[in-house]
Formats: sequence, C-alpha cells, structure tokens
Amino acid sequence: MSKYRKKIVAGNWKMNKSVSDAQVLAEGVKRELCNCQEVEVVLCPPFTCLKAVSEIIENTCIKLGAQNVHWEVNGAYTGEISVTMLRDMFCRFVILGHSERRSYFHETDSMVNRKVKAAIASNLTPIVCVGEQLQDRKSGMTETVVRRQVEGSLAGLGNDLLKVVVAYEPVWAIGTGETATPEQAQETHALIRQLLAGLSGKDVAESVRIQYGGSVKPENAAELFLQPDIDGGLIGGASLDAHSFTRIIEAAMEKKDVKVKLDEVGTEEKEQSS
Ligand code: PEP
Repeated sequence: MSKYRKKIVAGNWKMNKSVSDAQVLAEGVKRELCNCQEVEVVLCPPFTCLKAVSEIIENTCIKLGAQNVHWEVNGAYTGEISVTMLRDMFCRFVILGHSERRSYFHETDSMVNRKVKAAIASNLTPIVCVGEQLQDRKSGMTETVVRRQVEGSLAGLGNDLLKVVVAYEPVWAIGTGETATPEQAQETHALIRQLLAGLSGKDVAESVRIQYGGSVKPENAAELFLQPDIDGGLIGGASLDAHSFTRIIEAAMEKKDVKVKLDEVGTEEKEQSS
C-alpha cells in the first residue's frame, strides 16, 4: 500500500522581483491562500528578498525557501551564501541542482550532493532538481540521464533521503510552455521512485515527495497532480502571479476530492454492471 505524502507546491521566482514587488507578490499569495492543511506551500524568492518575504509570511503556514546554497558553512567563497545564512533568514527549504544552475553555472552531481548534505545538516529541506534535456529524450537517454543525476546528487544519504524533496523537471519543459504529458511525467516519476528505492530502500522511497516542474499552469496542474507518483509541483513562471500560483495550489488540494469522486464513480459503475 502506498504511503500518504502531503503534496508540496513551491514557487521558484528565479532572478525576478525587486523587494517591493516581492512584498506585493507574497502579500497576494497570503491573501488568496485559505490554508495549507492539504498542501505544503513554499515561496523561493531571490536572496535579496528573503527577509522581506519572511516578514510577510511570518505566522502563516507558508514556508520560505532559497534557490541555491554553498556547501561550506563559511570561508573565502566570494558571492556565495551558506546554510547558516539561510537559516538566519528563516529559510526552511532550498532548491538545489536546478537545470539553470547545472547548465549556466556548471554544477555537477557531486557539487549538488555536497550541497544536499550541507542543507540536511542544517535542517534545511533540499528540493533536488533532476531532468533530461530535449536531445536526451529524443535519443532515448531520459532514463540514463535521470539515473545518473538521482544516483549522483543523492548518494550516501541513507535514511536522510526522507528529508529530501525531489523535483523532476524535464529541461525542455522549463519556461517553454511545453509541459510533459501526465503520462510522460508519471513514467519518469515512477522511475525516480524506483531509483530512490535502490538508494535507500522501498519504504524510504515510498515516503519521498517528487514534484513535477516544467510549465505547470492552473490549466494543466490538476491532471498532473492526479498521477500517483506526482506529489506537487515546482512552479517557475506561474508563481510570479499570486492568482495563478494559488490556483495551482488549489489544484493540488482538489486532487483528494477528485480521487474520492472517481472512486465513487467506480463504485457506481461496479454496482450497475454487477
Ligand atoms: C522552474 O524553473 O523550476 C520551472 C519549472 O519553470 P516554469 O514553471 O516557468 O517552466
């Protein structure tokens, strides 16, 4: 029997928003969101907006995340930010290994792995991104690429894998408006869960949340979130608008209701046909 995994929807604001714009956006999300009972909600603004956003979401169920961190706690790493600095800003989450960091800043799986371990050691929940490029998918290399990223980025965690959220983000779907079909996404999510089981056992793997990311919008979120191995979303563009973002969160909340309705339909149909 599969375990209950609370869905998680996180907004990756990337390198967008001045402090005042970030305040407006965070206020908007706070105003539109009724509760986070069924869905964990995380905002990941740029470093410069962390403090302002943390003040707005203080005493709410919305949590704060950053978009990157260094693996060392301090030292001569000009321009970098450490896990303790993020904790100082009241961060609870950190996005790691995003494809933009992998491709523009040459982050490798072993760098991501060091960051993951540093985050966990500081009680930050890493959101670890993996995903294939378009040419990988076209040449049938999706499984190979995703396997290498999962096994490299999450090596040596043991039961600490439970403290990680994985985000499957096919690179060809990020910011392109092209989303993986629910079936394509589910297929890779199931593969990732299998890889996680290989790393830390089936029980652990069943508890790890795997988000989908890549052009998720209010219009396509619900059918993605209906897939059995999709446990929420990492949202880029659509998280820059409070209304779109909260509609995506609502879609994640509705998953439970839709499932109940589908079950009811199933029972009715069974009764009629028997
Ligand atoms: C992302 O960058 O993590 C992302 C999923 O972006 P978008 O939703 O804009 O495709």
